[in-house]
Amino acid sequence: METTTNKKQQQETQKPSIYSLELHELREWLAEAGEKTFRAEQIYDWLYKQRVTSFEDMSNLSKDLRRKLEESYSITTLNTLIQQTSSDGTIKFLFELHDGFSIETVLMRHEYGNSICVTTQVGCRIGCTFCASTLGGLKRNLQAGEIVAQVVKVQKALDETDERVSSVVIMGIGEPFDNYDEMLSFLKIINDDKALNIGARHITVSTSGIVPKIYKFADEQMQINFAISLHAPNNEIRSSLMPINRAYKLPDLMEAVKYYIEKTGRRISFEYGLFGGVNDQVEHAEELARLIKGLKCHVNLIPVNYVPERNYVRTPREQIFEFEKTLKNAGVNVTIRREQGHDIDAACGQLRAKERKEETR
Ligand code: SAH
Repeated sequence: METTTNKKQQQETQKPSIYSLELHELREWLAEAGEKTFRAEQIYDWLYKQRVTSFEDMSNLSKDLRRKLEESYSITTLNTLIQQTSSDGTIKFLFELHDGFSIETVLMRHEYGNSICVTTQVGCRIGCTFCASTLGGLKRNLQAGEIVAQVVKVQKALDETDERVSSVVIMGIGEPFDNYDEMLSFLKIINDDKALNIGARHITVSTSGIVPKIYKFADEQMQINFAISLHAPNNEIRSSLMPINRAYKLPDLMEAVKYYIEKTGRRISFEYGLFGGVNDQVEHAEELARLIKGLKCHVNLIPVNYVPERNYVRTPREQIFEFEKTLKNAGVNVTIRREQGHDIDAACGQLRAKERKEETR
């Protein structure tokens, strides 16, 4: 009882995260506080290059400014509850937020660099029938700074071996387009060369298909990689897997996708999870090929990750290759997603669902 009250008080008194501020917002805050705006670059340097965790350490700022910062903002430090390393080097973190909720972040090691998968919401309200992240619904949105803090935290861990986070995928817990503004600030901050300087082409965002936000995102004209969780070749199957498809139907989603490709000139990725007996037959591959014919796109086939609370079964290997071949023969760009972290519950939401049952019930 006492702990709940403490957590609640902590939440109410928690100051906004300084990592939520885009550079121009920090400048505006400084101007209002009667300070020189060039201090913004200095503060960014402390936060993102030196990666300090206290305002006290920002030694080239006046004591007075450090006090003002302290009074207005917090430097989000995430508490590591669990850190699991897979035999393939993938590291999965379960982090605790200031109000006691937990989120997952995954670090994947590739030949071309280190990629991190971040969470945008505590839980999710989209309700995909195969996904562990949505168990227990949505608890709250993350602030931009809480998403940025995941990257800073993992980068600090990599600092020890002189490595860097080279790419970011927004494919952790939550629907990024359901927390649109914070997600967008997050993108701008990590992309900023004065902050983490992660190139737009090394950032990927994935959505379950919130159609109005796809139009909005296309108009932002960011050069980042964009993925759609498609998972079905037709409206009926998609609705059975993803309730969001009843609000935003497949034909409307495809229209939005076309708009995105035309507006940005960029290729889109479709994620297609193979769910045994549901969407994994040769005729589904043929139907999918017809659906996306002529679009500048790529298909990522994802063999289903087993989630104990869900009852989907894996497609046999041979059948996965058959599915891939059918798409290839129809001229579709396709790859089977390499699986990492299988032994550490690395699919989104799995670790949280296992360790934090009270949050996901
Ligand atoms: N909410 C966003 C971001 C999550 S990305 C989205 O839906 O796109 C994570 C990807 O993994 C999504 O394509 C999601 O549909 C997929 N996924 C979730 N649970 C899965 C499971 N059990 N097996 C295979 N893919 C899964």
